[in-house]
Amino acid sequence: MNFSITILGSGAALPTKNRMPTAQYVNCNNRHFLIDCAEGTQLQLRKYKINFQKLSHVFISHLHGDHYFGLAGLLSTMNLLGREKELTIFGPPELETILKPMLFYGGARLAFNLKFKSLNRIVKEMIYEDDIVKVFSFPLVHKIPTSGFLIEEKPKPLKINPSMIEAYNLKIEHFKDLQNGKDIILDSGEVCSFEKVTLKPKKLLSYAYCSDTKKSETVAKAIYGATHLYHEATFLIKDQKRANSTAHSTTKDAADVAIQANINKLIVGHISSRYKTNDDHEHEMLHFFANSIVAKDGLCIDLTKE
Ligand SMILES: [Zn+2]
Repeated sequence: MNFSITILGSGAALPTKNRMPTAQYVNCNNRHFLIDCAEGTQLQLRKYKINFQKLSHVFISHLHGDHYFGLAGLLSTMNLLGREKELTIFGPPELETILKPMLFYGGARLAFNLKFKSLNRIVKEMIYEDDIVKVFSFPLVHKIPTSGFLIEEKPKPLKINPSMIEAYNLKIEHFKDLQNGKDIILDSGEVCSFEKVTLKPKKLLSYAYCSDTKKSETVAKAIYGATHLYHEATFLIKDQKRANSTAHSTTKDAADVAIQANINKLIVGHISSRYKTNDDHEHEMLHFFANSIVAKDGLCIDLTKE
């Protein structure tokens, strides 16, 4: 099974030679998701060798341009390259009314079905589910309505411990109940607990995405217990005032949310173009939340290993 994130753009509003604005590719057990789609995202997808025709769902956090200006171009390219597979875009309700005229007046007739789904910006909500993954949206705290996303693995059927099959004389017809966490009654009439005869399941992985946002306890509650968190840290501590006035976060804000939410690994990004390198962010993160990493374009994080 695989679960990985590729940072396509680690920068804030201004694209630079070193950093593109926000977009991320998520591969969760071969579900292919794009979170945000800043200008140039299609080029970043090519650069990092990601087949964008595999994408099935796009999640747009909010309507500041550095989070969605690449969408019209990406859709147009998908169409030119002969896409037939349906694509679903989750985003603010206004997104459909912005994108459809852009495509219409450009004469683009999409050969694939494009679905828009509006995010609930008031409460946390499950927006996607299949047999192995669930995706939630939840409100962030920013200048305009903004949503974060939480991608969670669903529990998989338990594995029977092979050495217990003979020991308990387990039969095929017992397996399904045991794998679903149900105790069974053996031929002898004895109750056999599923915990005794199945292998301990691996911890389920989950990835929370919080950009753009101020530090918020409500946000920490919405993502509580996620194994991995991407939280924006647009600013360093010395620019806390600027972070507050623009409804963004500093390194410490991101770390505080990660601590409150009991996160294992923190990735910070959406780095302002005023900082030329990651050095100062790395220095501060080491102090505030040691198990963290400062994003750069092209960074790939394998959640199964970290
Ligand atoms: Zn923003």
